[in-house]
Amino acid sequence: MRLFQSIDFILFILLFALFVSVIAINRITLTHKVYLAFHFIMMLWPLGLFVTKITDDPIIQQVFINVAYFGMGMLGPGWLIFVYFLTGRAERLKAGRLLVSILPAFACVTAALVNPNSLFMSPIDGSYLNREYGPLFWVLVLIQFAYFFLALMNMFHALKTVNSMHQRKQLALALIGMFVLTGFGLLDVIVNVLLAQWLPIVPGLLASGILLSDLCFVIAIYRFGMFDILSLAQRDIFGHMTTGIIVVDDSGKVLEVNKGASPFVSISKGETFEMEKFLAPLQVQGEVYEFLYRYTNHPHEKMQMEFSLQENAGRHVSIQISPVLDDRRLILGRIITFHDVTELRKLVMEMNRKNEALHERNLELITIQEELFRVNQKLEQMAITDALTGCFNRRYLMQQLEHEVLLNMRYQIPFSIFLFDIDFFKQINDKFGHLVGDEVIRSTADVVKTKLRRTDILARYGGEEFTVYLPHTNHEQAELLAEKIMLAVGENQVAAGNELVSITISMGVLTELSIDLRFDDPKEYLRDVFSRADTALYEAKNGGRNRVVLAI
Ligand code: GH3
Ligand code: MG
Ligand code: MG
Repeated sequence: MRLFQSIDFILFILLFALFVSVIAINRITLTHKVYLAFHFIMMLWPLGLFVTKITDDPIIQQVFINVAYFGMGMLGPGWLIFVYFLTGRAERLKAGRLLVSILPAFACVTAALVNPNSLFMSPIDGSYLNREYGPLFWVLVLIQFAYFFLALMNMFHALKTVNSMHQRKQLALALIGMFVLTGFGLLDVIVNVLLAQWLPIVPGLLASGILLSDLCFVIAIYRFGMFDILSLAQRDIFGHMTTGIIVVDDSGKVLEVNKGASPFVSISKGETFEMEKFLAPLQVQGEVYEFLYRYTNHPHEKMQMEFSLQENAGRHVSIQISPVLDDRRLILGRIITFHDVTELRKLVMEMNRKNEALHERNLELITIQEELFRVNQKLEQMAITDALTGCFNRRYLMQQLEHEVLLNMRYQIPFSIFLFDIDFFKQINDKFGHLVGDEVIRSTADVVKTKLRRTDILARYGGEEFTVYLPHTNHEQAELLAEKIMLAVGENQVAAGNELVSITISMGVLTELSIDLRFDDPKEYLRDVFSRADTALYEAKNGGRNRVVLAI
């Protein structure tokens, strides 16, 4: 029978719990959830008192008076925790701190419910309508005031540090609510407990305080909308961002779609997003096929692909799929984002083009540089050699000698000079022509070259006159080499039509020994050297030609 009477109440609690859980499971902020829990606790006090009054059954009375005191006992920690959320410091409330906050009240409430030796309270005349309170009751009341004091300190501190006008107003209103609740609570204890013998019982004092303070809360929440700033901001960002976003459930039904998605796909909430249909215009093959395969068969994977929309002026779009998983990694749905990357692609392509052009220009420049280097080398070669014979020219020889004679003087190195001229060359020119004359000059130079060492320098001194510089060469070595050259030139013949032209040369040979090497100006010294060699050559010509004369 008693169970039958309580069934309505059990149903009420069940329905109410269901109501709270539906709200708690849905997308509301954590602060909302904490408030709802707190609200639930606040409701227990009037509910408990109400049921106690409408029944005569002492057992039911006892249960509900316990419910009321459970609600009352948990008001303090509820307030304290809620204040943490209200002042935006919820993140400081770690599990340890939460436990410490609740524990004293919870221990006291538990002790009150057990009510050992009626230390908490006892019914008067067998009815809980009138109660006698024990010391445990006062401990519970004191603990409540301690909690309210802590919560008050917290709020004052927050009021001092908070800058936002909105939040200050909200806190101030909540603070008023707290004072009202504390005030009514105090009044209830004084009137209905302390002075109960002398004053009539005033019902609903604490409950009115709860209602009034709760009203302050609700106004603060609605007027200043603090709880919702984050979700409002999220909704605003979601609505206004250029990235298209579609949220689908595990069956592909669209739960949410933002404006940013409209250039990429036309779909509304409640419709089903079909990836295959969406990708159909792209001809499902290759990369697109693989993407579709993974989308269909691996919903847990994150994936991304880039494609171009033909009907949308070839814009490049990056599509990204992210799974939404619950704690047990079960798939709840997926987030599909569309991002226009055309500008990025264009920039990358432009950069690649520029890089390529630069690379080509670089290659061209390298080719030009190489060409220039070759031409320069040729020019240098041309500047120091004689075109007809390929030997060095006189200018180069003189330049080299200026340096060489300085070294020779410095290190006491002997050297020799040959100066030779083709005999009766005018006659060869006259008889066979200039071309044969040229060939005679070239051929003679070639023959001489074969007899020289690599360190010797052969240079065309003028028309058909040559000179040879021979470093590290004394009298004997110079004479020997001069004879060899005379012999080789004498054996050489140049063809002129059917005839063979024989050639002889006359040569002046000069050797400078280390002890003779003393001069100030290398140019002047060289002039003297060549004048002496020239005299020897002149003597060789005068002496009948085809001979060597040693200079003194
Ligand atoms: P000698 O025995 O006294 O040397 O008599 P020579 O006829 O050789 O007289 P000389 O050395 O003065 O002759 C120089 C001639 O060489 C004059 C010029 O016409 C000729 N000649 C100079 N350079 C060239 C050249 O590059 N090619 C040709 N074919 N002839 C040249
Ligand atoms: Mg001559
Ligand atoms: Mg000559």
